[in-house]
Amino acid sequence: MPLTMLKLVDRPSPNNDARASGAVVDILVLHYTGMRTTDAALDRLCDPEASVSAHYLIDTDGTVYRLVPELRRAWHAGVSSWAGDTDVNDRSVGIEMSNPGHEFGYRPFPEAQMASLERLAHDVVTRHRIPGRRVLGHSDVAPTRKQDPGEFFDWARLARAGVGVWPRLPRKPVAYATLDGVLGPGDQGRAVASAQSALAAFGYGITPTGDYDDLTVDVVSAFQRHFRQRRVDGAYDAETETVLRTLLEMVV
Ligand SMILES: [Zn+2]
Repeated sequence: MPLTMLKLVDRPSPNNDARASGAVVDILVLHYTGMRTTDAALDRLCDPEASVSAHYLIDTDGTVYRLVPELRRAWHAGVSSWAGDTDVNDRSVGIEMSNPGHEFGYRPFPEAQMASLERLAHDVVTRHRIPGRRVLGHSDVAPTRKQDPGEFFDWARLARAGVGVWPRLPRKPVAYATLDGVLGPGDQGRAVASAQSALAAFGYGITPTGDYDDLTVDVVSAFQRHFRQRRVDGAYDAETETVLRTLLEMVV
């Protein structure tokens, strides 16, 4: 279905400013609203006092609200980083999915909402030529602060529609030489540093210290929330390692 068949509603938000001159838009960030109702989320995203916004909000029935023109810089990512860039707002398009989120009753995203997102996101990544590895969740770019859009979000479906990447896993688990057992909080050493390096190579804001600290737990959790959703526990296990190494081979 072409974009023109989406139900589009203009709901301009004052919460935006100019992108830096010459800024390239090459990241798509997906969010959930984390509010009880769509109306409450729209009010907040348009409230000058709140100083937050996104380019689009998609309601559970598939209606797409246009809040900020893509030419402008919307205020959705906050303190964030990806692949060394720390002004994610400057170079991204942000889309909010209406969902109460983990605080108010997190639930799966309805078909009508996902269908609209698929069309809108495909249009965005095509027009801006956003590479698959730069289609991200808010939790990917702000792993210490954010959990959205969360483990119910169907990234695999989006990838099948040409939006983002999804690992093509080997049939048999691959044993990676660096990993012997499961890494978790308090672990130290080369295997931890190797895991941190791999996460950083993919884009996460982490440096290889060799200490499995709180940041490492948060980044591994963010990675799992996106790419290994059946268990989000922050522990770097063999499956997490396999998914990450597979993705790196696909995108680097
Ligand atoms: Zn968010």
